Amino acid sequence: MISYKTDSECCGCTACLHVCPKSAISMKESSEGFLMPEIDELLCIDCGRCQKVCEFKIDNKKTNNQTVFAVKKKEQRMESQSGGVFSAIAENFLDLGAVVYGVAMNNFDAVYTRITNTDELKNLKGSKYVQVIVGDIYLDVEKDLGKNKTVLFGGTPCHVDGLLHYLKHKEVETSLLFTYDLVCHGVPSPRLFKEYIELTEFEYNSKVSDFNFRDKILKWHGTTMIVNDEKVISENYARMYLSDLCLRNSCYNCKYAATNRISDITLGDFWGIEKFYPKFDDNKGCSLVIINTEKGKKIFEDIKSSIEYIESSLEECKQPNLMHSSNKPDNRDDFWKDYYEHGFKFSISKYCDYNVNKDYVYSSKI
Ligand SMILES: Cc1cc2nc3c(=O)[nH]c(=O)nc-3n(C[C@H](O)[C@H](O)[C@H](O)COP(=O)(O)OP(=O)(O)OC[C@H]3O[C@@H](n4cnc5c(N)ncnc54)[C@H](O)[C@@H]3O)c2cc1C
Repeated sequence: MISYKTDSECCGCTACLHVCPKSAISMKESSEGFLMPEIDELLCIDCGRCQKVCEFKIDNKKTNNQTVFAVKKKEQRMESQSGGVFSAIAENFLDLGAVVYGVAMNNFDAVYTRITNTDELKNLKGSKYVQVIVGDIYLDVEKDLGKNKTVLFGGTPCHVDGLLHYLKHKEVETSLLFTYDLVCHGVPSPRLFKEYIELTEFEYNSKVSDFNFRDKILKWHGTTMIVNDEKVISENYARMYLSDLCLRNSCYNCKYAATNRISDITLGDFWGIEKFYPKFDDNKGCSLVIINTEKGKKIFEDIKSSIEYIESSLEECKQPNLMHSSNKPDNRDDFWKDYYEHGFKFSISKYCDYNVNKDYVYSSKI
């Protein structure tokens, strides 16, 4: 009998589901709102493929002669979370006729999305601080590679590793695959994100038509929502995220929260840029780029002429989630117990200082 990964081990990548020869695995939403694989014991033939593809190992003691840069792509930054380096990379791939994969918002679901032209790039820009739905995206990448297309794929490191394991299992030729991963603090529950939108709509008695997880209109951080055609600035969702109470359970044991990486190039925020390179910092966002492989080197060489950059080091760019996973708060179970018993507003108010009166309208009629 195949044994399940516990929810503190499974990142929800879907590699297991796609290698099952009997389609015995499906993704089901857990009580916390995360998709988890579920095996239909009647269909399962105990072949062990799902367990094999899931043997994720990363040697965190290994070093790869990585190089590190602080980067700004000035004309891209306002819609991007950090210095806009993702857009510079994606644009270059798209201009060369490649396919780019990233994460877009669709009806308040974050979903992996395939794009082939620069008009679609706006949908992938910006971090969506909620766990993404993987869907059948690994199959799409496999199809593109099968047609000899050059592919850029990226997301959270666990999902990039899931793709690499899946492709290896299917013996797919990957010389045309380039990967980027994000430095990742952990992914919040999609269910709680939806609850947050619903609560906001209730409080304002109006639809939320857009949501920006980190708008730069005032500073590098800050969530904005478009409610009733007005831009509302709120720290309530960010406070919930950063409380770490609603991260996927596997995030507290994340083996990718280290400087050794699984992708060709790692992207993040260059925290501490103002300390190390004050002249480079303009408080509008600065990207961290870690080059991990020869392919990563090529990705970076190809965009050098379109960005501003300075070379840095692993020592300078180290931030908590490059050293260890986010800590599981002692009161996480209490938070969820209260959520089940008394509802979302009760829990977020009690544990995350939720207060709608702290929101404010930035501009009317944007
Ligand atoms: C859940 C999450 C946690 C993060 N935690 C950290 C952190 O602790 N420290 C840090 O330095 N950086 C973190 N980042 C990365 C950072 O927020 C920026 O995404 C990164 O620096 C790239 O910024 P950019 O300006 O180059 O591009 P942007 O234009 O902001 O591009 C955003 C990129 O992120 C991808 N993306 C967006 N949402 C998701 C998602 N939910 N899952 C997977 N991929 C997504 C998009 O496809 C795109 O490639 C995190 C990102 C996410 C999504």
